[in-house]
Amino acid sequence: MTARRLLLLGPPGAGKGTQAQLLVERYRIPQISTGDMLRAAVAAETEIGIQAKAMMERGDLVPDEVVIGVAEERLAQDDAQRGFILDGFPRTGAQAEALDALLERLGTPLERCVALTLDEEEIVSRLLKRAEIEGRSDDNETAVRHRIAVYQEQTEPLVAHYEAQGILRRVEGTGSVEEVAKRIEEALG
Ligand code: ADP
Repeated sequence: MTARRLLLLGPPGAGKGTQAQLLVERYRIPQISTGDMLRAAVAAETEIGIQAKAMMERGDLVPDEVVIGVAEERLAQDDAQRGFILDGFPRTGAQAEALDALLERLGTPLERCVALTLDEEEIVSRLLKRAEIEGRSDDNETAVRHRIAVYQEQTEPLVAHYEAQGILRRVEGTGSVEEVAKRIEEALG
């Protein structure tokens, strides 16, 4: 099978992580989640983790140069050479440009960007539910509302960025995990 280089874009709570997991199994390529990597860094109390902790708890973005470094290092690893699913990166224009430049240098451009869509009230209710189950420290209502605002301001413009590249597919994020997975499967062709 040809390498699949995929990006899942969408607001917090849209189900990117869940759907990325299914794609990992389907295509046997790694999920690259900057959120997961940063949470691991916080737990391990690395320099990056110590730096990122308070920003993450507030629902603010971690600085571009930090996240770009983390993502580039991960993309350089062996298992990412036959494809990958990016989830939660890029999240700003600067991150998208850094990613474009890196993949262009490597001669391995993104193949598809799937943008999951979900309305704001559904996002909030999903995240507050997740807070009860997982107890993630940034899933309180203030931080959740803030993450949505940050998403709308900084990340949503990336939809147009990938649309201009001709690789964007919009997928409705409502419904069951299986329904959304099916829509993504269709969008990936
Ligand atoms: P969600 O999509 O549910 O908000 P993530 O797990 O993707 O959560 O990210 C959690 C937090 O980690 C973000 O709110 C942010 O502080 C930080 N983070 C993750 N990825 C990035 C990124 N690409 N750029 C900046 N900050 C990031």
